[in-house]
Amino acid sequence: MIDQEAVLRRYARAVEDAHTTLTELDQRSGDGDFGDNLRGGLRAALTRFDKGGTSAFGALGEVFLDEVGGTSGPLLGLLFTEIARALDSGAGFADGAGAGLTAIQRVGEARVGDRTLVDALAPAVDALVTGGPVEAANAARAGADRTALLRARMGRASYVGDRAKGAPDPGAVGIALFFWAAAAVAS
Ligand code: ADP
Ligand code: MG
Ligand code: MG
Repeated sequence: MIDQEAVLRRYARAVEDAHTTLTELDQRSGDGDFGDNLRGGLRAALTRFDKGGTSAFGALGEVFLDEVGGTSGPLLGLLFTEIARALDSGAGFADGAGAGLTAIQRVGEARVGDRTLVDALAPAVDALVTGGPVEAANAARAGADRTALLRARMGRASYVGDRAKGAPDPGAVGIALFFWAAAAVAS
């Protein structure tokens, strides 16, 4: 059973460390608020979790769905909510991440190769079918790295054409950090 609280705290710390990088990546391809959106969501989730009455992933899901702005806020909210639901029902992390990907694609309509967070999440979900958290983290990282070669077809980054190329998509990097935190806790 995954230690949800430990994942939340690891992820929050990783996002604090990556805030400047995430901001710069979103300045390059979007409006520059992704670092603030993700960090704000993690901070609020820690506060909500510490109040009690909810699981760590439940807190993440609620906060990102209800409070976090940007395109990424509600999409990440769907991921965390599905993981919380799967863990509550005993289905497990892999099923939850898969359900999260399905929900994100239903709402956002991005496919692999569109230069979004789906480019990190989809390979991580695939890796969880045969592997564990470490394989998922490596797959997410590789997927995020590959976005540096892509021109965006979805979201704000699609307005800037090739200008964003050469640096990875901020949302994909944010997803890679999440799976890195899960792997760090699991191993
Ligand atoms: P905004 O563009 O509204 O400021 P954020 O900065 O919060 O949004 O999030 C930007 C990230 O959202 C992008 O880096 C990308 O990964 C992700 N994103 C944008 N559009 C989509 C989509 N349709 N599906 C999945 N992810 C998306
Ligand atoms: Mg933005
Ligand atoms: Mg924005």
